This record gives sequence, structure tokens and C-alpha cells, in this order.
Amino acid sequence: MAIDFEPTPSTLDARDYYNQVAREQMRPISRKYDVEEHTLPVEWVDWYWETGRKRAVTTAKLGEPADGMIQVCVQVEELCWGDAALYLRMPTPALGGSAVSAAGTPEQRQRFLSAFRAEGGHPIWGAMAITEPGAGSDAAAIQATAELDESTGEWILNGNKIFCTAGEGASQHEGGFVVVWATVDRSAGRAGIKSFVVPAGTPGMTLVGCEKKLGIRASDTATLLLESCRVPQENLLGSAEVKKRDPKKTGDKGFKGAMATFDASRPIVAAMAVGVGRAALDFTLEELARQGVELRWDAGLHEQSAVERDLIEMQAELQAARLLTWRAARMISQGKTNNLEASMAKAKAGLAVTRITQKAVQLLGPPGYSTKLFVEKWMRDAKINDIYEGTQQINQLIVARRILDYPSSMLR
Ligand SMILES: Cc1cc2nc3c(=O)[nH]c(=O)nc-3n(C[C@H](O)[C@H](O)[C@H](O)COP(=O)(O)OP(=O)(O)OC[C@H]3O[C@@H](n4cnc5c(N)ncnc54)[C@H](O)[C@@H]3O)c2cc1C
Repeated sequence: MAIDFEPTPSTLDARDYYNQVAREQMRPISRKYDVEEHTLPVEWVDWYWETGRKRAVTTAKLGEPADGMIQVCVQVEELCWGDAALYLRMPTPALGGSAVSAAGTPEQRQRFLSAFRAEGGHPIWGAMAITEPGAGSDAAAIQATAELDESTGEWILNGNKIFCTAGEGASQHEGGFVVVWATVDRSAGRAGIKSFVVPAGTPGMTLVGCEKKLGIRASDTATLLLESCRVPQENLLGSAEVKKRDPKKTGDKGFKGAMATFDASRPIVAAMAVGVGRAALDFTLEELARQGVELRWDAGLHEQSAVERDLIEMQAELQAARLLTWRAARMISQGKTNNLEASMAKAKAGLAVTRITQKAVQLLGPPGYSTKLFVEKWMRDAKINDIYEGTQQINQLIVARRILDYPSSMLR
């Protein structure tokens, strides 16, 4: 099988553009919004909505570039090289949009996503709320309920959602929406879990608060309460039908459809991790060079210093993560099932970025631990890539299941 990951001219052009955005728009305010955790980064949000978004829309209108999703990963890597938390705070459909694209009908895509492409207006956000106090890795344990009120034709949602990225923006700012996962039939297990689009400001959806976090502090991570929250019947994504699980089969289609969102989003998270890892590695290389530390990339194994060996390992880890990410992304553009590859990329990149950033802090000595440099921030921003969108351990489980062809019931 021939594999060609050579970026196209259009991808190289996008890389240069987003690198400039990262340098000029993100890095100068990176520390400010890390310190002022729950303050909206207005200058960044407004710049993206008025200027940055236009480029994204134009690219979409021109059609998919030849290397489609790879180009998206390259953009994400550059923006997260700038600041991963500000990237997450961009007014975009984000994970909520991925869910609508993966499980929604063409009419739903038009209804919920067109405002993000329209001229003018004000910044809007999308989010996805799966996690609950008792349901994270095991999404099938979701307790939030959705009950159909036959008299009004509305779904009534009740439940408690925690750790929802962009949940503040998506639930509070007009035009936004939160995709909420809830069960329509607890006795049906996974088959009963469906996703519902809850527009911002819907009565019954309350923002309880935002988490104070170790890293990605410019990103709002919300707790949302749903109390008799009513949405129209047509806000359910996909089919309302509950197909009970056939024990002879590996799963049911409804739940799998919802989980397909992750096949598209995991390569993006992996690209985010690569961006943060590259930020730390680039800076470490520059700083060591400035201090006169000579790096001999071609030195034989027995001649390498400990620092040289560390840096070579960091480079290799980063490049391995990037290549796995691009492979999983390319499969999306080719319309191929990438469940295994998406989890491989996410697991590898999450681990690589935590190792690379920790190593960077160590190699730079005490200044690496000081807030005078960004390296300590990148170390804090790195860890989340090993947690959300399926933890390291869960993605490794998925890889094992796919390789061994075991159903989730046999390997958990
Ligand atoms: C900053 C942040 C943003 C987030 N954003 C979102 C969001 O936008 N939407 C959303 O729905 N959720 C979001 N999450 C939640 C995140 O996806 C969950 O935290 C994650 O899925 C893990 O679930 P949990 O916290 O319940 O941990 P648990 O499932 O309780 O896991 C705890 C530990 O046990 C391990 N573990 C669990 N099961 C197994 C197993 N079978 N084998 C081996 N190890 C196992 C896990 O890997 C983990 O290390 C976010 C979380 C954070 C911290």
C-alpha cells in the first residue's frame, strides 16, 4: 500500500497562515487568559469571528483540498502550537458540530450549523455533553433521560452534565447549542442512548458553573443541569428507534452512530496534542541553541550526550504521533472506517505530548518551571489530551479490541 503524506501546496499555505495567526494573535495573550481563567478572551473571539472564520468558510466553499482532513490537522497543530486553550475557546461548532455532522440529517446540519457560516452576526459556540458524575469512560452508564411528551411532540430532558468543553459559550450565548446525550430507555442499555440538540437559552438548561483547572484554563469547562428541559422532536439526532442489542452482534447501530463522532474528533485532539508538543520542543531547541548547547543530530549512539538522546527521542515521539494522526485523518477523507487508527493516534499523541512537555521543563532547568516561560504552561496544557475524548487507557482498550476483533463485552 502506497502512503503519501506529502502536504499539498494548499496545506502548506494554510500552515503558514495559521502559524502567523498563532504567533500574532494567540501567543501575545496566551499568559493573560491562563491567569484570568474564566475571562472571555474577547480580542481573540472577535478576531476569529470577524477575520479567521472567513478563511475557514472560503476553504469550505472551494471544496475539500486533496489532502482534506490532513489539512485540518495541520491547521489545528499550528493553532495549538499558538495556544491550545484559546483554540478550544474559538467560536465554532466544535464537538457539537462533529456530532451534528456525524449523526444528523442534511436538514439538521443546515438548521444547526448554517449560522456559523453566515455573514455578520455575533460569535456562537457549539458543545457536546456526554459526561456525568457517574458516567465518563463508560458512556453507556449515562443516567440523563429523555422522555417524549406525545401531547406536544417535545423531548423532555433531565440530567446532570459535567466537564463540558465550551459549555458556557454554547449554553449562554444566543445561536449556540449543546448536544446532550441521554437515554430514552434505560432498560435498553447503550441502544437507548440518543443525542439531542439543545439550543442556547432553552428553559430548563442551567449553567451551574465552570471548572477551575490545571491546564487549558482559557477554555470554559461547564457543569450543566437539565431540568424538564424541552426541545422539539426534530432535535433528536438520528433515529428515535431503540434497537435492542442482539447478543450475537458486537453492538447496536444507534449507539455506534453516536460513537462515530469520536472517529472524526480523535484525530483532531491528537493534532492538538502534536501542536502543544511541538511548541515545547521548538522552544527547547531554540533555548538550548541560545545557551550554546551544541546538538549533533548525526552523532553515533556511543557519542551522544544524554541531552542529545532526549531531544532525538522527543522528535521521534512527536513525528510518530503526527504520522498516526495524519493516517487516521486521511482515512476520514477517503471515507474509510478509522476507529482503530483514530484511537491509536489519540493514545499515542496524548502520551507523547505529556512526555515531551515534561522533558522540556526538565531540560530547561529551573526557568522551565517558572511562569516567565511558557514551558510550564504547555506541560499543564498537555495532560488533558490524555484524558478527554477517551482516556489513554480507554483508547488502548479500543485498539486491543479492534486488533483482536473482540466485542466490548469481552474486553473491558
Ligand atoms: C478539561 C476537560 C474537558 C472535558 N470536556 C468534555 C466534553 O466536552 N464533553 C464531555 O462529555 N466530556 C468532557 N470531559 C470528560 C472526559 O471525557 C472524561 O473525564 C473522560 O472520558 C474520563 O471519564 P471519567 O472522568 O468519568 O473517568 P473514569 O471513567 O472514572 O476513569 C478514571 C480512570 O480510570 C481509567 N479507566 C476507566 N475505565 C477503565 C478500563 N475499563 N480499563 C482501564 N482503565 C480504565 C481511566 O482511564 C481513568 O484514568 C472533559 C474532561 C475534562 C477534564
